Amino acid sequence: MKQLKLKKKLFFKIIIIIIFFIAIRFIFLTENPQYLPDLNTMTITQIKEYAQKNKLNLNIEYEYSNKIAENKIINQNIKNGTILKKDDNLNLVVSKGAISIEYYAENKINELGRIPVMMYHHIMDVENEYTGGNIDKEGYNRTSNAFKKDLEYYYEQGYEMISLIDYINGNINTSFGKSPIVLTFDDGNSNNIKVTGLDEKGNIIIDPKSAVGILEAFKKKYPKTKVTATFFLNKGLFNQKDYNDKILNWLIDNGYDIGNHTLNHVDFAKITSNKVQEEVGGLYQLLDQYIKDKYVKIVALPYGSPYKQNHSNFKYILNGTYKDIVYETLSTLRVGWEADYSPFNKEFDSTFIKRIRAYDNNGQEFDIEMALNNIKNTRYISDGDNKTIVIPSSLNSQINNKNNLDMIEY
Ligand SMILES: [Zn+2]
Repeated sequence: MKQLKLKKKLFFKIIIIIIFFIAIRFIFLTENPQYLPDLNTMTITQIKEYAQKNKLNLNIEYEYSNKIAENKIINQNIKNGTILKKDDNLNLVVSKGAISIEYYAENKINELGRIPVMMYHHIMDVENEYTGGNIDKEGYNRTSNAFKKDLEYYYEQGYEMISLIDYINGNINTSFGKSPIVLTFDDGNSNNIKVTGLDEKGNIIIDPKSAVGILEAFKKKYPKTKVTATFFLNKGLFNQKDYNDKILNWLIDNGYDIGNHTLNHVDFAKITSNKVQEEVGGLYQLLDQYIKDKYVKIVALPYGSPYKQNHSNFKYILNGTYKDIVYETLSTLRVGWEADYSPFNKEFDSTFIKRIRAYDNNGQEFDIEMALNNIKNTRYISDGDNKTIVIPSSLNSQINNKNNLDMIEY
């Protein structure tokens, strides 16, 4: 009898233990949702342990930062306090601390150096006819294949695309040790962004052999590199009547810019000041119909004319009135053969910017290779931070710190 009682007691004990474990399991499974804690209160080791415990896929990239202390978070893809799910990707950019003066020197960082602004026209899906993918003898137009190779060449040479307007404004986000390059296209040729139709959602389908098609493929191939260009249009816009509206908006939405190349591709040196204002103001007003406040107030000068800013018509390109609407132009683009200055260099004149004809002539006559070779030792090399200007102290007298950025000299 006593033995039976003992057995019963043991039996209940076991039952209680089992219930206890089930309850624990139950509590564990219905645990309150996990909120991402403030990662900046944790060490990197603690963050790694936390990610493992909560089954998060943790990716950490390290970057130098003059603002964020070493081992603190610069950037995170999930905000603090967000409810976590198993297998969430937690991507962090963690500071390696400030860059040492020696490291700037070693990498020849020079934010007063030259920046190439490349000038393109037609990009045509045809076989080569002249040197290295030029379609015409002077190399104003390139084959699709040649343009594709140009992009790879810039990349190999350590260049990253930035937008023209960021260049002018001194907002340069190029990665550490890399150099900015600006791409421009004149005349609104349909092969700059050729639309072959619309998909079922009504989005434009872009010919992969047109300039933007090639740029988009490059963007996919190098997802960490910025891809952008500025297109300068005449009154025909991209000369695709049915799609112009969609094209303009697509370009703006996808990180490209639109600028002014006059209504009728006029030579500013050969017309009256009234006509200048009609040509410039008229094109701005045309763009207003499609992309108001979204285009850049920059004029690429047709034929690169006038060649001098003291031409009597030049001031009307910058400021004027057409049909009672006042316009102001920030910059004009010339036709040239060499890279222009850094926007932080006191020689930089944003109202009259030099461009390089993007063509191939076996490294001669100021083609792409020659133009980039010419600035091999003087090109802009970025510190990777658009809030600071880093220069060798020998260039100190050339600075124009118009944006009041932090200066670092070495
Ligand atoms: Zn033109």
